[in-house]
Amino acid sequence: MVIILRDNPDQKQIDSLVSWLKEKNLDVHIIKGADQTIIGLIGDTSKIDMDSIKTMEIVEDVKRIQEPYKNVNRKFHPDDTIVDIAPGIRIGGGNFQVMAGPCSVEGSAQVLSIARAVKKAGADILRGGAFKPRTSPYAFQGLGAEGLEILKAAKREIGMPIVSEIMDISKLPLFEDVDIIQVGARNMQNFELLKELGRTRKPILLKRGLSSTIQELLMSAEYIMAGGNSQIILCERGIRTFETATRNTLDISAVPVLKELSHLPVIVDPSHGTGNARLVKPMAMAAVAAGADGLIIEVHNDPVHALCDGAQSLTLEAFGDLMAQVNKILPFAYKR
Ligand code: PEP
Ligand code: MN
Repeated sequence: MVIILRDNPDQKQIDSLVSWLKEKNLDVHIIKGADQTIIGLIGDTSKIDMDSIKTMEIVEDVKRIQEPYKNVNRKFHPDDTIVDIAPGIRIGGGNFQVMAGPCSVEGSAQVLSIARAVKKAGADILRGGAFKPRTSPYAFQGLGAEGLEILKAAKREIGMPIVSEIMDISKLPLFEDVDIIQVGARNMQNFELLKELGRTRKPILLKRGLSSTIQELLMSAEYIMAGGNSQIILCERGIRTFETATRNTLDISAVPVLKELSHLPVIVDPSHGTGNARLVKPMAMAAVAAGADGLIIEVHNDPVHALCDGAQSLTLEAFGDLMAQVNKILPFAYKR
């Protein structure tokens, strides 16, 4: 971190700033130029509050050279993290996985028929929302605990690990047999939730917030990892932009950017990323080509009558077609 001082700074104030910084165990280097004085900081600056330094009278600007996240930073952990989901099912470090299933669990027959079809098409992980974050309080809110039980029964019957979203930490005990706990876009900065999940040793699927930067996503992952849980999968699911032709704007460049900055696996959700079933296959292919470690795709046995996100849900047949395309391009995917 570099602190740029204003012209003719008061020496007493410089001294007190320097001793405060040294108390934080930082090496402090003062560089006095003809016009300007700069303070260079070496050491772990991740806990230093840049904004409070910026408000000091003698300070003109503060620039970070090192990222504010440490645990998730590839600089401190050059090898890819591999998340172990179930025996033989891993993600990251060259292991590619597809999670597929309905937006929300609607009933046992629905989940079982979708699970059988997506497994047959080559997906290894079953998705299904039980607690649904809906924009309208009048929209279907999910089946809650009962929905999770239906999903767990499908896991036992079909033999697929499951991923489902948590919205409230008080529900954590219900997620014991859920293989991956999803933190949805709307909860990406629910820091209390992230801290609690950091205390578990469960794989966490952390989705990017609707209006969150890549750095904010990594800071949220840092919350989980700072608690001791490194089993985190990052997910790009589209962000809010001025564009209205798609539900969100799917930021494919987030894949290579995240993989450069962090060692955590990165997957892409082209369903929420586009909001349109016709666009899911091309964007899934783009994600694979860009080097994603996996995909999460909404699939429904009867999209027209789906209780949630039918417009972006693939039919069982369309999902089979997507998988065939994905498997064709997978060997040519970009590797960093
Ligand atoms: C979902 O996966 O069904 C979901 C609600 O996703 P997101 O949090 O990305 O909107
Ligand atoms: Mn959905």
